[in-house]
Amino acid sequence: MAKLDQLQTPSHNGLEPIGPVRHYFEFAYSLQTPIWVFDIDSCRVLCANKPACTLWRAEDEAALCTRDFGRDMSSTVRERLQQYQTDVASGSTFKEMWTLYPNGEPHSIEVLFSGFPKNDGRFALLCEGTHHKEDLPENIRSLEALLHTDVMISLFRRNGPVLYMNPAARNASPTSQTGLASQFAEPQDYDTLIFEIDRKGEHSMVAEVDTAHGRRWHNLTAKACLDAATGGAAILVTANDVTELKNARDKARFLANRDQLTGCFNRSYLQHTVREASRSKHKKCGLLFFDIDRFKQINDRHGHEMGDIVLKALASRACAAIKKTDLLARLGGDEFVILFENAEDKKQLERVAQRLLENLRRPLVHKSVKLNPTVSMGLTFFTPERDNFTAILRQADIALYASKSEGRDRLTVYNEALGATADARDQIESDLKRAIEREEFVLHFQPRVDFASGEIVSLEALVRWKHPTRGLVMPSDFIPFCEESGLIEPVGHLVLRAGLNHVIEWHKSGLDIGVSINISPTQFDDPKLMESLVEFAGDPGFPENQVELELTENVLVGDRTVLAGRLRAIAELGYRIAIDDFGVGYSNLSYISDFPVHCIKIDRSFVDRLPESGPVVRLILTLARQIGAMTVAEGVETDVQAEWLRQASCDQAQGFLFFHPAPVERVLEHIAHGASATA
Ligand code: C2E
Ligand code: MG
Ligand code: MG
Repeated sequence: MAKLDQLQTPSHNGLEPIGPVRHYFEFAYSLQTPIWVFDIDSCRVLCANKPACTLWRAEDEAALCTRDFGRDMSSTVRERLQQYQTDVASGSTFKEMWTLYPNGEPHSIEVLFSGFPKNDGRFALLCEGTHHKEDLPENIRSLEALLHTDVMISLFRRNGPVLYMNPAARNASPTSQTGLASQFAEPQDYDTLIFEIDRKGEHSMVAEVDTAHGRRWHNLTAKACLDAATGGAAILVTANDVTELKNARDKARFLANRDQLTGCFNRSYLQHTVREASRSKHKKCGLLFFDIDRFKQINDRHGHEMGDIVLKALASRACAAIKKTDLLARLGGDEFVILFENAEDKKQLERVAQRLLENLRRPLVHKSVKLNPTVSMGLTFFTPERDNFTAILRQADIALYASKSEGRDRLTVYNEALGATADARDQIESDLKRAIEREEFVLHFQPRVDFASGEIVSLEALVRWKHPTRGLVMPSDFIPFCEESGLIEPVGHLVLRAGLNHVIEWHKSGLDIGVSINISPTQFDDPKLMESLVEFAGDPGFPENQVELELTENVLVGDRTVLAGRLRAIAELGYRIAIDDFGVGYSNLSYISDFPVHCIKIDRSFVDRLPESGPVVRLILTLARQIGAMTVAEGVETDVQAEWLRQASCDQAQGFLFFHPAPVERVLEHIAHGASATA
């Protein structure tokens, strides 16, 4: 007793005074079962009766109280003890098999734990060794494994409360835990588990469960068994916490299925879902394809950052407007698709799509930029088990294309007539590919005449397609297809090469005339054009300032500095730059003074309406003079027009009044015979 009193002084090993503890413990000194009080906070025994000292192989109580139990304590045991502190504070009493290591020797004992109030308001553990048996080493080891493992092991009475929990399970278990069912965040997970256990005796699943640490994901296996103590029906559950793993996997899956910019699903996920839809109960589905009208212009005028903002805003509008069962995917660029899994009522779905079109059209404001974006839509209906993804997407795309051709900002529903037109277009495209391979293109040339001298000063190269069955096809019938299908690059390259070869030839034979070559907008945007221009300019026979590239005004929209840089680089190679069909496009006039423009070709529509269109033509002539460009009137057909233009000091003319476009030999013949400009 005297020794125990010494422990009351705060100076002794830094321990707190235990007066009241000892007072309450008095009863234990006369008992035969080992009883001791363990202080979780200091990891020391505060008091112990004699049998407890014997159990712990301690000489007496004072010796046991000076032992530091925290020194070799594993973190699992430490955590478990913290949990006990909470448990006993709430009045719980529980039994557990423990293996004690007095002086390193293992002893298994069943310990009854209960709370023992300390004078600081916290609780120590009152421990009562209730059953002490000498165990076989393997029993001790398996018991130890059960105690120390991180795997949560619990036994539940079938449809009843918990019968046993190992420390890891107890640690994770919420205090409100009553039975297995109450663990599950989703009741149907429990129902599935029981259903499967009844069917095959055991079941494994990953489920969200309520734990002492909040909602976690557990990978659990549950088996039907009998409780060894009572023989009653029970369920043995082993569980691992897989929350981190699941989160990582979910994130990876999210990344694999989603478009990074907008968070919409991606193409491969859409494809997968369309395939899966064939197993759904719905017989008809709908696929809506839409893209943003003139999206390139948004990017060019306001930059890619603004383009991204528009994509994200429209994606989020579309996402908010559709039902949870519908799926929004971004295919890439400005192309989006919505899969409607229930489209039995076609008219109703058309109304939904129409409403979405209007919803997406709302103005969009970012910083000082205000945009009125519009979209074009194509809708098609399909039967999941019959149609394949590529065919469905093509139908929706054909309908979308029809919306574009009809003037954009509208919805078109696919029908067979549209399909037939698209097939014809595809046929032209494949014919064109063959034409490129076999070089079925020829150039006709139309002379440009100088008003002052009446001389032919240059020839414009105009491409024709020598079709094996259709005869000579004019550019307006195939150039737009080339533009759309990306074939303009190879066709443009063929024209450029042929045009340059001709002009080199002419100059070799002493003919001092230039050539004009039309460059389409997509061709101009293609970096390969610059490569070709550099290559041709490197030719020893390349006649500097005799090759003019005709660009239409719509090429001249976009980033002014970038455009000016590109045009200057082209001019520095020795090419001239002409603006074709001037006056009908959208070019910003203030831009033009920044660009190296050598020639302005006044569009035929103005020449056609002379003299009524006189004021506009005069305006164009003045502008050209201001920027130091020469002027060419296109489509001059009458003497009245020619005379008006000559009077107004237009530099050159091109038109049927002088020459029709013709094969090179015919034009050269004219020139050789000294044909006058008015021939
Ligand atoms: P463009 O560059 O404005 O060419 C002038 C067009 O006007 C030519 O039509 C020519 O035949 C026609 N034309 C010339 N004078 C008159 C006239 O007095 N009256 C009328 N009614 N028409 C006249 P074409 O050859 O059918 O070419 C049409 C357009 O196709 C060209 O317009 C040009 O934009 C494009 N194009 C022609 N060749 C090429 C090419 O090699 N590459 C590209 N990208 N486009 C080309
Ligand atoms: Mg032209
Ligand atoms: Mg023109």
